[in-house]
Amino acid sequence: MADRLAGVPLAPYTTLRTGGPARAFTQARTQDELIATVAEADRADEPVLVLGGGSNLVVCDDGFDGLVVRVATLGVEATSQDGRVLVTVQAGEDWDALVARCVAEGWSGVECLSGVPGLVGSTPIQNVGAYGQDVSQTVAAVRVYDRRAGEVRDLTAAECGFAYRHSAFKHDPGRHVVLAVTYALERSPLSGPVAYKELAARLGVEIGARVPLAEAREAVLELRRGKGMVLDPGDPDTRSAGSFFTNPVLGPEEAAALELRAPGHPRWDMPDGTVKVPAAWLIENAGFPKGYEKGRVRISTKHTLALTNPTGEAGAAELLALAREVREGVHEKFGVWLVNEPVLVGVRL
Ligand SMILES: Cc1cc2nc3c(=O)[nH]c(=O)nc-3n(C[C@H](O)[C@H](O)[C@H](O)COP(=O)(O)OP(=O)(O)OC[C@H]3O[C@@H](n4cnc5c(N)ncnc54)[C@H](O)[C@@H]3O)c2cc1C
Repeated sequence: MADRLAGVPLAPYTTLRTGGPARAFTQARTQDELIATVAEADRADEPVLVLGGGSNLVVCDDGFDGLVVRVATLGVEATSQDGRVLVTVQAGEDWDALVARCVAEGWSGVECLSGVPGLVGSTPIQNVGAYGQDVSQTVAAVRVYDRRAGEVRDLTAAECGFAYRHSAFKHDPGRHVVLAVTYALERSPLSGPVAYKELAARLGVEIGARVPLAEAREAVLELRRGKGMVLDPGDPDTRSAGSFFTNPVLGPEEAAALELRAPGHPRWDMPDGTVKVPAAWLIENAGFPKGYEKGRVRISTKHTLALTNPTGEAGAAELLALAREVREGVHEKFGVWLVNEPVLVGVRL
């Protein structure tokens, strides 16, 4: 079993740079170590926080009164099946390094997810998505340690219950430790059909066109850098957890109510009759522009959805106060409650 350290500050392990000390902290370098560490803590009734790259976490200033297990398991294996390549990746692998490898190998299906920070094991948790792709389109299986049953299970994609920035894992938080993810990718030098308008425009192609994988990756990275969405120590706007709010998905009644308050507002009509509304539009039109500051925290100067801790000196309480102000302002103006995307540890919105 790996060493346990006491009182390790968590802020350096999160991209938002917030979080007090963990009562105990350890790193798991093999699947067996990861399972044994979590199982032992569960037997001792010790709270566990599984930590990936810390890019989707707001950890409270008091820290975590339990065991933080940082996932550091490595390994990528590729096999061929029915003309596709099945890539099985250990949870601790860096996501963007995996995407870069897929692009270099000619494995198509995740190229538009270039530049998303964090580790592979976290990608199924919130069904990571960007620029018209999300991992639900390629995940074939997820190997988990089910803490409730105390056993390792292989879940099919259907069992993962993927939806927009959501999955069965989020529905039942903490129950599953993701050990490895298998992605089914197409062997092709071309990207999947480009499905996102802004990306198509940047590439100078029509929606539905396919472009060389490396071009898709570069275009996505350029777009993301312009929005402060690629981690960069030199760019204070990237001291964030990415988008802090998801785009609200409204039922017919809520959508009709919003239409009355904001006739002609931007919207995406979904096939199931719901209406997705850009959270960034709601936030801006509720009076919170890019760069809006509150003490030491602010809305990114490049991207309305990202709340940032530019100097890294603010705590989670300050950040949450800004999040609340934005959320309440949007509700007051538009009657819509925004929902946070990052996982909140020891804090509430
Ligand atoms: C600049 C920036 C840009 C971003 N852009 C995007 C984007 O375009 N699209 C998008 O979807 N997200 C985006 N994000 C959010 C984030 O990168 C993703 O959600 C990512 O998948 C989180 O990975 P992580 O390893 O950092 O997870 P962490 O933040 O470490 O953990 C997130 C949650 O997953 C749990 N978890 C982590 N690993 C495991 C595991 N192995 N088993 C079980 N549970 C686990 C944690 O306990 C926690 O609840 C962005 C974040 C930043 C900072």
